[in-house]
Amino acid sequence: MFTGGFGIHHGAYRFGAMTVPMSAGNTKRQLDNMQDFQSDILTCTPSYAMYLGESLQKAGIPLEKINLKAGIFGAEMWTEEMRDKIEETLGLKALNIYGLTEIMGPGVAQECMEQDGIHISDDHFYPEIIDPETGEVLGDDEKGELVLTTLTREGMPIIRFRTKDLTSLMSGDCACGRTTKRMTRITGRSDDMMKIKGVMVFPSQIEKALLGVEGVSPNYQIIVTRPDILDEIEVKVEASKELFSDEVKEMEKVEKNIVDAIRAEIGIKVDVTICEPETLPRSEGKAVRVIDERNFE
Ligand SMILES: [Zn+2]
Repeated sequence: MFTGGFGIHHGAYRFGAMTVPMSAGNTKRQLDNMQDFQSDILTCTPSYAMYLGESLQKAGIPLEKINLKAGIFGAEMWTEEMRDKIEETLGLKALNIYGLTEIMGPGVAQECMEQDGIHISDDHFYPEIIDPETGEVLGDDEKGELVLTTLTREGMPIIRFRTKDLTSLMSGDCACGRTTKRMTRITGRSDDMMKIKGVMVFPSQIEKALLGVEGVSPNYQIIVTRPDILDEIEVKVEASKELFSDEVKEMEKVEKNIVDAIRAEIGIKVDVTICEPETLPRSEGKAVRVIDERNFE
């Protein structure tokens, strides 16, 4: 079961905010309730926020009808480009939250309105960054694996838990005035890294490349296969409605742009397939971006 909601719910209750627990799914009702209650904060996964934004546009509901001020999004990796899209479609400020079930769920770290790094609640959780290969502790602004120790948790304290999440601790202070340590957004996991033709590839890199290409939607799937000895990677991307009604020639041009953008980002050429709008599976929880069909036995 997805435990994320409880931390948010009780946290909001603690400072006197009213919460409308919705869970994922039933998107029409989500949009209705957003208008009826004039909710000002939305919290969910970034991919579901994207989907809500899309649905809002599709339903023809103008942004003036909803009252969202900020969104607290987490539980999966996302990019700055995705943040821009969410902010545009939902008319809010999109903020990053970080947590993990093993430590306490959401609330280990939360971005402030400056959107300049995620503030770690370091009076409760002691953060370190290590080199995932050697275990060596790294300094500020050096990228590695986040390791957390709980300082105040009772019953089951966790000592130097390896999160497998790749980030860095930031030097300097935040303009908001809070003095807690900040971390950068998670850019990958030390274990979901795909090695394609010997090159390290993170799904977030593919996403970043796709979001820079005109005419495609940020709904995508990465399929990794190993037909013979070498890994192959296929990226399926949804076209926008406008693009899909265009000529084949136009589609081919965009396909080439995607291939080029991905190659510029990860250094290797991948196969790209453009799909019809809304044909890739939508997620109401964590998006399944990578389908690994390789057999390692
Ligand atoms: Zn701040």
